[in-house]
Amino acid sequence: MPFELVVHAHSVLVDGAFREAWVGVDGGRIAELSSTPLEGAETVEVGADEVLIPGIVDTHVHVNEPGRTEWEGFASATRAAAAGGVTTIIDMPLNSIPATTTVAALDAKKAVATVGVDTGFWGGAVPENLGSLKPLHDAGVFGFKAFLAPSGVDEFGHLDAEQLERALDEVAELGSMLIVHAEDPGVLAAHENDGGADYHRFVQSRPHEAETTAIELVIAGVRRSGARAHILHLSSAAALPALRAARAEGLPITVETCPHYLTIAEEGIPNGATQYKCCPPIRDDANRDLLWEALLAGDIDIVVTDHSPATVELKTKGGGDFTEAWGGIAGLQLGFAAVWTEAASRGIPLSTVVGWMSRGPADLVGLSQKGRIAVGADADLVVLAPDATFVVDKNALLHKNPVSAYDGRELRGVARRAWVRGAEPGAGQLLSR
Ligand SMILES: [Zn+2]
Repeated sequence: MPFELVVHAHSVLVDGAFREAWVGVDGGRIAELSSTPLEGAETVEVGADEVLIPGIVDTHVHVNEPGRTEWEGFASATRAAAAGGVTTIIDMPLNSIPATTTVAALDAKKAVATVGVDTGFWGGAVPENLGSLKPLHDAGVFGFKAFLAPSGVDEFGHLDAEQLERALDEVAELGSMLIVHAEDPGVLAAHENDGGADYHRFVQSRPHEAETTAIELVIAGVRRSGARAHILHLSSAAALPALRAARAEGLPITVETCPHYLTIAEEGIPNGATQYKCCPPIRDDANRDLLWEALLAGDIDIVVTDHSPATVELKTKGGGDFTEAWGGIAGLQLGFAAVWTEAASRGIPLSTVVGWMSRGPADLVGLSQKGRIAVGADADLVVLAPDATFVVDKNALLHKNPVSAYDGRELRGVARRAWVRGAEPGAGQLLSR
């Protein structure tokens, strides 16, 4: 019997290295990996300038539907994902309305989630639902997100220090994971400024200390409770020594950073350019180099986008005033290419980048059938032209709103074709833990 699909490439990423292989797919899974030809009902020959990699897994995506679908929705987000080589996303519990802090809210989200790629959900831990996280856990969320400072939307409150401890205890008891937006509200309040268009003043309003203080609190809480924690969107390299020490101590803490922190620096951000606003902020070039070093050293585990879109109106609110514009960068379609472009310029191999952005995030959420080309894994595959380049045109992106921190940049790496469980993107499944 021939396989339903065979994909043949001279360079297939298997176990961290590229080699020639025929990938036989049956029933949405990789049924065989062979160094000699396989027979397929359909056979795809990958081009000489192309390689075959596992689909990118992005565990930090704000889809915003229902409630703020004009910011982004499941259809637009997952189309953009597939175009950027992303075959699995995990949706954040806020900026949709309702926020995903109850089973009813999760059900409301699932009811409208028509997805083109596989999609799972994080739950939220907010002051109102502490003590009752179990039903959401049982309903299949991959973990719980908490903010330690105001989240930016009224319906998703942040936890104070005592509430953080309670959340950690509860998550530990469930065997779940707390994923944390770590900025300290006291430090932020002490550095508030009157804003304006000056980007450096915006960075000063969210200093390194806001991240280091909050991360120290999480580390202490993990040490006390034994809970599994994950630090979201690390921007400040100043927090790395404490994280390194905590991990060396054996504490179960993982760390992510994002494409914009790795590929953009404060020095290149013009005043008034609020398309670059995100929290924590994009810092200086020296800090950026330290994030790359930490990734290479294994002190940062993964790179995910924190795709956090809003309408053009909100992103440019205040006419260039950084205190008024929405803080968030839409990067789902471009994150992989942006990171690969910068990595290549630093001499870092493609296999390493795919590890940070595919297998690493899949393993974070326990999706062991994703993020790898291996027998038994889901046939989530991407044909990538790693040396092909393109210039980002914000109006041509599949994100819902044409505003981009990458507009006009030349990026490297074109995802020419993708399969989600052996099929063209379009009929993604909803994933549960
Ligand atoms: Zn986020």
